[in-house]
Amino acid sequence: MDDISIYIHLPFCKKKCYYCDFYSLPAGSLPETFIENYLLAVLLELLNYTDLLKSYRIKTIYIGGGTPNIIETSRLETFLELFFDILKKINPDFYDNIEEITIETNPEYISRNLIKMLKDEGINRISCGVQTISKRSAEILGRYISKNKIISSIEIITENFTNLSLDFMLGVPGHYIKDELKFIENLNYRFNSLKHISAYILMIPFGTPIYYKISEKQTENKSIKEYNYFNKFISQLGFKQYEISNYCKPGFESKHNLVYWNRQNYIGLGATASSYLYNVRYTNSCIAEYYQMFSDCINDRNLTLSNFKSLTEDLKNHTFNNRYVRNDSVANNFYKNLLVYIKKNNINHELLNKTQMMNEEIFLSLRKNEGLNLNSFFNEFEQDFLMDKKIEISRLQKMNDLIIERDNIKIPSEKFLIYNKIVGELLY
Ligand code: SF4
Repeated sequence: MDDISIYIHLPFCKKKCYYCDFYSLPAGSLPETFIENYLLAVLLELLNYTDLLKSYRIKTIYIGGGTPNIIETSRLETFLELFFDILKKINPDFYDNIEEITIETNPEYISRNLIKMLKDEGINRISCGVQTISKRSAEILGRYISKNKIISSIEIITENFTNLSLDFMLGVPGHYIKDELKFIENLNYRFNSLKHISAYILMIPFGTPIYYKISEKQTENKSIKEYNYFNKFISQLGFKQYEISNYCKPGFESKHNLVYWNRQNYIGLGATASSYLYNVRYTNSCIAEYYQMFSDCINDRNLTLSNFKSLTEDLKNHTFNNRYVRNDSVANNFYKNLLVYIKKNNINHELLNKTQMMNEEIFLSLRKNEGLNLNSFFNEFEQDFLMDKKIEISRLQKMNDLIIERDNIKIPSEKFLIYNKIVGELLY
């Protein structure tokens, strides 16, 4: 049985951070029923996949956003219960087989009640967005959370969870990287559950509020210095870098994110969520169109999270059955059904050809410290990457931008900052 992963996009935040160009909506300005209806749409979308999912083992689930924990705890609990109920019906062994269920959180909205509920629902990994402990930097980012609140939230999380990941940001004006690292050092000393850290360089997306205050030129040097300093320091704390922006204690890589970088199958549920199934990549539409796909069903049946369970069989059998059918003996049917579905619903999609897939393999695997495996590349595409890119590889090797170790070709960690330039030279 093949593996598949699921991403659930819950695009609600208290307010928009100044640097944010992700798809998220400020929850405070939305009507009361909006979030409930959105959650219903996600459940209905999951029902769409019932037949498809029967042929797979669900490997990981990632509940991201947005800020999923801004949703009222009891509502989020009902949603998760219903979601996992559907998966249990598809595969009664689902909980025994799954490797990782992560939820993204903001430390500002962590409570004991929430954390206990997440644990009871079977979540086994928490990712928490700290970004910075500097008040000045946080104000520039538009998301100030006090250091005390961050620490008390981590205390609450680690009472129940043994696998915690924290997000930080590098290159932010106003903070001192040494202070941020000192903070991480203290957390690492206090909390054995801190197993993973992501550290992203601040980007200044066009049109965001931060774009009109700071230029990328202003942060460039700071980002380079902080990235190099961070890499050196974090390894002394026992965190191994395994991807451009990700570090972990041995064995605690994000299994879900590795699915993306290893080009494995996943489905994305929710507005703007992307899916990748074999060589088909497709993306759901933005919230208005996404909701439209399910609104008749929700309105006609007066569907709510409370009556959803009693109607599940009816919904599955009469409304959404057989949209995706995967039958290994007639693989063409699978593609045909998938493509009919995504075309019918006007979903952006791309049927990747061999060159596109090879390029994806190159740029995704070179993000990882282990790099690209030449044998796997040859086995999948029947192309000798080393021969095909002989001139480029030798030039990059001379500049120490690329190294070959046994069967793997990789970018040295200190050159990740020019990843785009290096990869640009290696694509087909
Ligand atoms: S919490 Fe994340 S998704 Fe929400 S506004 Fe801030 S950066 Fe955007």
